[in-house]
Amino acid sequence: MTVSLWQANGTQPIREVDFLIVGAGLVGCSAAYFAGQAGRNVTITDTRDIALGASSRNAGFMITGLDTYYHHATEHYGIDVVREMWALSRTTHAHLRYFARGGDVEWHDCGSMLLAESKEEAHDLENAARALEADGIEIEYCSSDPLERGYHAAIRQPQDAAVQPYQLVQTIFKQSGAELVANNEVYRIEQADDDTVLVYTRQFIFKAREVLLCTNAYSVILDPYFIGKIIPTRAQIIVTAPLKNGPVVNTCGYSDYGYMYYRDTFDGRLLIGGGRKQHKALENDTMDDRTTDPVQRFLENYLREKFPDVTEPIDMRWAGIMGFSIDGLPMVGKLPGKSRVGFAVGFHGHGLAMGAGTAERAVDMMLKGTDPGAVSAARLR
Ligand SMILES: Cc1cc2nc3c(=O)[nH]c(=O)nc-3n(C[C@H](O)[C@H](O)[C@H](O)COP(=O)(O)OP(=O)(O)OC[C@H]3O[C@@H](n4cnc5c(N)ncnc54)[C@H](O)[C@@H]3O)c2cc1C
Repeated sequence: MTVSLWQANGTQPIREVDFLIVGAGLVGCSAAYFAGQAGRNVTITDTRDIALGASSRNAGFMITGLDTYYHHATEHYGIDVVREMWALSRTTHAHLRYFARGGDVEWHDCGSMLLAESKEEAHDLENAARALEADGIEIEYCSSDPLERGYHAAIRQPQDAAVQPYQLVQTIFKQSGAELVANNEVYRIEQADDDTVLVYTRQFIFKAREVLLCTNAYSVILDPYFIGKIIPTRAQIIVTAPLKNGPVVNTCGYSDYGYMYYRDTFDGRLLIGGGRKQHKALENDTMDDRTTDPVQRFLENYLREKFPDVTEPIDMRWAGIMGFSIDGLPMVGKLPGKSRVGFAVGFHGHGLAMGAGTAERAVDMMLKGTDPGAVSAARLR
């Protein structure tokens, strides 16, 4: 939000902190863990509280890789970038497994399944499978529909998993050892001198040595640098009542080039998300996290057509805001003219695939001066 003259009167107490992270989502809490491991005293502050943004509204799919078919991604980014992003994704999953083991996190090693909605998509899927295999990536290609629900082909990635995302971020925060200042929106950031950043918030003016923004979709409100580079994009989900006859998907299933996704929840419901492709004008470039009728109707129709055996009513509906970067890769860098203010943003619908590894690179950039590689925002200059 913007702030008025009356609200921002500068009389908040000054609070000195060491390493300040703005945003207590999956990425901010992961960054807090890595900065803590590097010996820094970390404070996280958030407009709301731990993981109340996209990080607790997602479907919990831990899918390795980018959200673009492998052969398309290589054409678009080049093979070196694609390989680096897959390695970053594997690193991320290794971190998340480690975090989850340290807490009470529901987790299912069910693999993922990318399914083709049409014969044309099946043809593309086969090309993706061949490109993955040629690059030595472990997948299983199936030229028919393993779910027997009218899909045309599938790629299974056996190493993928489903997770309870809210529990995951809670446990990452606990393991980070960071202090949290919740209910505290940041509205201005100034680098006072070479060693000090002033961060203006509702409760305090923080005086920090370094600041890392993990504000994803909301970054555009905080600093104009992000305008045109990060596009806030809504995603919506429906969940049925518990299924009387047991699970129906048994994997993290997604189709229509990733625009549709479905899984069984840990308490035995069917979750379906997506429907954004058919309603892009409504769902792109918004920060309103209310559900919308056209997308909700689309999801309901999909449920009734693909899963006619599921007759349970819809129990819950929600939406969340993702941060899409302009070229599809996460962005790590420093704000222009602010050498001690870094950021790690732009995780699309793949924060569980890229978030923790990217957060680690962002912390290394801030503390050791290392190059973030393919996720460096320098590519967008
Ligand atoms: C419906 C839906 C389904 C999804 N499904 C999946 C999936 O299955 N798998 C997957 O990998 N990804 C999925 N995603 C994407 C994933 O959730 C995100 O990529 C990930 O959560 C991004 O984490 P983050 O920490 O960067 O952002 P967020 O979780 O959004 O955290 C940003 C935080 O910054 C805080 N903040 C922002 N501005 C300020 C400010 N000025 N002052 C203080 N605090 C501020 C916000 O309150 C928020 O807590 C999905 C997303 C949605 C919405």
